[in-house]
Amino acid sequence: MAEETIFSKIIRREIAADIVYQDDLVTAFRDINPQAPTHVLIVPNKLIPTVNDATSEDEPALGRMLTVAAKIATDEGISADGYRLIINCNRNGGQEVYHIHMHLVGGRPLGRILGR
Ligand code: 5GP
Repeated sequence: MAEETIFSKIIRREIAADIVYQDDLVTAFRDINPQAPTHVLIVPNKLIPTVNDATSEDEPALGRMLTVAAKIATDEGISADGYRLIINCNRNGGQEVYHIHMHLVGGRPLGRILGR
């Protein structure tokens, strides 16, 4: 069994977070350390530690993450100008929290995909 992270507590609303969307499969909340005017994390409600751990059974939740990202981008007014979706995996990917999450970042020009 994978170890729960703080994100499971946010999903269950046991600790505070600025939740912008929640349904039966996914939860979205504002990043505590935003890197852009809009920085929302979209996570499956089920604990899946990394992309490497995702199975075909997880496809409904993983697909929902994408459509919810598009909805939130529209709600935030950043759809037309554009935004970036990022999922980090493991150490070289820069993953810090081991519960899959998609970063939705936008609200300013983001430059090239990799800083260096
Ligand atoms: P990673 O580097 O794993 O892709 O990103 C983890 C993200 O989770 C970081 O952007 C970090 O700011 C955010 N984060 C970590 N702990 C919390 C928390 O307790 N609440 C919220 N809202 N965001 C968090």
